[in-house]
Amino acid sequence: MLLIFPPVAKPCEPPAGIAKLSSALAAHGIACTALDLNLEGLLFLLQHPHTASDTWSRRAVRNVSKNIASLRDPTTYHSLDRYSRAVTDMNKVLSLAGRTLGWSVGLTDIQHEHRSPLRSADLLAAAEHPEQDPFYPYFRTRLLEAVEQQGRAMVGFSLNYLNQALCSFAMIGLLRKEFPGVKIVLGGGLVSSWMKRPGWRDPFGGLVDHLIAGPGEGPLLDLLDTGDAQARRFAPDYSGLPLSEYLSPGTILPYSASSGCFWNKCSFCPEPAEGNLYIPVPPREAAADLRRLVREMKPSLIHLLDNSISPALMAALADDPAGAPWYGFARIGKELLDIEFCRSLERSGCRMLKLGLESGDQGVLDRMEKGIDLAEASIALRNLRNAGIAAYVYLLFGSPSEAEAEARRTLEFTAGHADAISFLNLALFNMPVGAREAERYGTEPFYEGDLPLYTGFRHPRGWDRKAVRRFLDGEFRRHPAIASILRNDPPYFTSNHAAFFARP
Ligand code: SF4
Repeated sequence: MLLIFPPVAKPCEPPAGIAKLSSALAAHGIACTALDLNLEGLLFLLQHPHTASDTWSRRAVRNVSKNIASLRDPTTYHSLDRYSRAVTDMNKVLSLAGRTLGWSVGLTDIQHEHRSPLRSADLLAAAEHPEQDPFYPYFRTRLLEAVEQQGRAMVGFSLNYLNQALCSFAMIGLLRKEFPGVKIVLGGGLVSSWMKRPGWRDPFGGLVDHLIAGPGEGPLLDLLDTGDAQARRFAPDYSGLPLSEYLSPGTILPYSASSGCFWNKCSFCPEPAEGNLYIPVPPREAAADLRRLVREMKPSLIHLLDNSISPALMAALADDPAGAPWYGFARIGKELLDIEFCRSLERSGCRMLKLGLESGDQGVLDRMEKGIDLAEASIALRNLRNAGIAAYVYLLFGSPSEAEAEARRTLEFTAGHADAISFLNLALFNMPVGAREAERYGTEPFYEGDLPLYTGFRHPRGWDRKAVRRFLDGEFRRHPAIASILRNDPPYFTSNHAAFFARP
């Protein structure tokens, strides 16, 4: 079987999904090749001759090999300015690819002027005309040769992000034309979200043989008639992927110690809306997996992919460190109120925690069911700073229970804790399709298309997206303490590279 990770996603670490599937297939004696066509395709476009008409583009094209090398060089991460120049120039080179066909390609995203990944008709059109995809010059040979080598049996696509959808379907269209008999399987986070939407009907029949929702190992092994598919768990196997080629200063080891979320209550979150179950790897086993993978891969950083790292896993890592620095998403829970616990995390290698604080207003947090007490959040942030762990704080504006007064309290809280916040992510609230709250506020189409993940809603207090944007741009981002935190964020790769810059 051939497993494909399609463009475009951040090309800084190997894809965990196909690494886990590879491991599951290998354990059952099934020959399998994992291809990161995202990384390969982006490197191809970067190094492909482009017509550059202005001075900046010509310089960016001339320096592209140097900039690729600099993103793999740890010393580049000593200077955010140098790093920013390299990634901005690389993004410029990519923007030259596919322009004549209406594409805007970037290091971490892609858009087409007319086609949308939210419309099945556009995905089918991408499949009908694969030659119109900007990555076609690369995948038309690479993909077909790989399928030929695998014996034209089965090809699986790991489709996790909207930015991967149009290219995935272009590749599927090419395969259908060239190898009509090959079985095509489509899974990954985005496919799971589609399939868990209320009223889902498969619009891809005839093109895709099997769609898989949720963790793919069991269903894929079932498809391959292996028998014990559901009974086992598999640690990822990255050995087939080109670890030295990623755009990072050393290997990043992604590891998922759970699917779903142990909290699973936040009213705005797709996890409860999609009814995803929380399935953890037993913490001691996860710590043992990580130690083994660190021995084998010698990573410079572990990326824990869990929606929220459980307190039990944190404790297991503190007791039994993996042997490499690590970061990931955590909830602001009681355990972070204990400075000694935070120090034990730092000793275990924790460089940065991503924290979904969302709001600096207690009423908003309560109505979201975040389970966060602001007085405790304040202590947790200061404990992390004192322990030497950077906090990457996520804020959410425009939720149904927030209006300007509450947003201003978020500003006050953030500015008041600026010395304990290393990085900030500011997001506008989106109402997930199927969220408990959605009906209450009157839904309306948010994006055109039959595959939306979010729905529009009427804000009960008129705090709509326009007003929120005005507040963020006119006030929030301009606050000197907040502006200084926002300037720390690595462009394009953001939290994926932030730990390399982390100075708590
Ligand atoms: S803690 Fe995070 S993943 Fe879990 S329900 Fe809340 S927002 Fe979703």
